[in-house]
Amino acid sequence: MKKTKRVSNSEIQCWMQCKQKHFYQFVMKIEPKRKLFVFDRGDMIGQTVQEYNKGKSWKKLWKKLDAEYKSKTFIEERETDLSVLIPTLTENYIAAYEDIDEFNYLASEFYFDLQIIPGVNIEGNLDEVVSLDGKTISNKEIKCYSVFPSIAFLTFNTQSILYEWALLQMGYKVKSTVWDIIKAKMPGEAKLTTKGLLSKSKVDSTYFQMEKSLKKLGLDITDPEIAEYLETFGYESYFYRQEIPHNKTVSRNLIEEIKKIAIEIKMYSGIKKEKAIGYQCGRCEFRNLCQSELQGVNTRSILAIEYQESEYAKRKDLNRREKAKEKQKDVIPKSFKSKK
Ligand code: SF4
Repeated sequence: MKKTKRVSNSEIQCWMQCKQKHFYQFVMKIEPKRKLFVFDRGDMIGQTVQEYNKGKSWKKLWKKLDAEYKSKTFIEERETDLSVLIPTLTENYIAAYEDIDEFNYLASEFYFDLQIIPGVNIEGNLDEVVSLDGKTISNKEIKCYSVFPSIAFLTFNTQSILYEWALLQMGYKVKSTVWDIIKAKMPGEAKLTTKGLLSKSKVDSTYFQMEKSLKKLGLDITDPEIAEYLETFGYESYFYRQEIPHNKTVSRNLIEEIKKIAIEIKMYSGIKKEKAIGYQCGRCEFRNLCQSELQGVNTRSILAIEYQESEYAKRKDLNRREKAKEKQKDVIPKSFKSKK
């Protein structure tokens, strides 16, 4: 019997982006020994926020993640000190939402593995599953971006469409995807002028961060002038939640497109290796390897020095899947399923 091929949203994205990159990542199953900063940042903040939303101690988890981060990077390569950025953003996230969070958190890291076409399954982990009305559920995505994305990007997004599709396949009543977006930037702090007075220059920050820094400067935040200044800060420039309702037409059409890609991957994975040379190469983690091939250089030493078997490949497929299922302790109540 032919083995079922399993693909994730990131494999689909990678296939659409560049077949050569797909070959490195999903056929050769290699990754750079030193990963680019941007990948760790989004993943870490996602994990601490999820832990908080589950009602657990995010600080305990952060201690573990931070130790791992420090052990895997040199000080010189820490573009932004994540050891400061992640806890600061998590604290600000909590301050922004603790009194106004209207979600009922049903599950996190919700794993699925479902057939999309014969011979190909889609697998993935939903960041969070929440309910807003007690009757239907929503897929919730936690993302960290330097610039807030457009509504079009959030609406025509293969990941959210796939995750909604997965929930529907499992029989749930799906309302929407909620995008929980965090700006990937250190919030600014209050400063004093050379005369020792509070500087009123424009600062890109939050209420929480400004209050904290004003206190650190020894200023009295109950002073009417300082209080008035503090009141000009909110959370809108750092945290943004956008609900995109489930749209049957968009979903049906995008799933049809994804099915076509799944067929292509099934037929041509490991065969097609066209290089899609373009602006995306600037951020590609396989650039050195790919460019060396173009220059006709023997890539064996580059492979040995700069790349390694990916973490994903090391954890044997079956093991990884079993562990993901095991880890998934959250069960979405049956009351959220359709009657039929
Ligand atoms: S550098 Fe460009 S062409 Fe080469 S694998 Fe990466 S994205 Fe593809």
